[in-house]
Amino acid sequence: MATGFLTDTTVCIGCKACEVACKQWNQLPADGYEFTGDSYDNTKQLSGTTWRHVAFIENPKKRRLTGDVDLVALAEDVTEPLPGGAELDALGRWAFMSDVCKHCVAAPCQQACPTGSIIRNEFDNVYIQPDICNGCGYCVPACPYGVITQVPNDGRAFKCTLCYDRQIDGLEPACAKACPTNSIQFGDVEDLKVIAEQRVQELQDKGYTQAYVWGTPEVGGTGGIDGNHSKFILMDEPEVYNLPRHPFLPQEKFRGGVIASAVAATVLGAVVALAFRD
Ligand code: SF4
Ligand code: SF4
Repeated sequence: MATGFLTDTTVCIGCKACEVACKQWNQLPADGYEFTGDSYDNTKQLSGTTWRHVAFIENPKKRRLTGDVDLVALAEDVTEPLPGGAELDALGRWAFMSDVCKHCVAAPCQQACPTGSIIRNEFDNVYIQPDICNGCGYCVPACPYGVITQVPNDGRAFKCTLCYDRQIDGLEPACAKACPTNSIQFGDVEDLKVIAEQRVQELQDKGYTQAYVWGTPEVGGTGGIDGNHSKFILMDEPEVYNLPRHPFLPQEKFRGGVIASAVAATVLGAVVALAFRD
């Protein structure tokens, strides 16, 4: 059975319980408490020491207040109608999204790893074997989602293991266990796919027609990656969540160059052969 995550951003409250549970279970160090200046979230991004990252996305409706703005008038005048007669304050809203390794079906990091450290384990999760990683860092630029980094003072690459040790004991990953709103669900990827489709349908029936699943071969798992075992239910464009719309395997980009080089070498060889003919 292939296992994975479904992260439903529509019910995430940004409590960061998942991030803390991941750090605690996997004994990952803190990353400091810097104020970034562009977000109230001080973890900033996924890394070798942050395997779940809850992004705080302020005002994802592209409303940018610049210049001399009458905030009171804006608040009174501009509202967006919501189902059931509720109103959304047009000054903005928050979106929270707990990001994680996508556990790609055809994982670019695995394909880039020269030592065979990155494998698919018995749960079909993409897993880095720390004792085989030599710290070359090839997997870091290969990941189109910016998930992996090398850990300072260690050099090796680390990322979400989908709590392999807990799965072996029949337990769900720590983040899914800790989430108070069930924003993070864990299970058989085929079951999660059905749950995701049903949830999107439910949202759309309630009037949230912008809801969709990211991580499919059509959106978010493109370019030879063939989909992801970590899927997300989103309400805005992927870029709002710092996710690529059309990621690709690195070799997809240089395939044309390789073919062109081979053709050029063949033509050049033929020309040289003709030139030295007697
Ligand atoms: S998201 Fe990145 S780190 Fe995770 S499996 Fe895909 S390529 Fe590897
Ligand atoms: S534990 Fe659940 S609700 Fe809290 S931040 Fe994580 S995903 Fe969101």
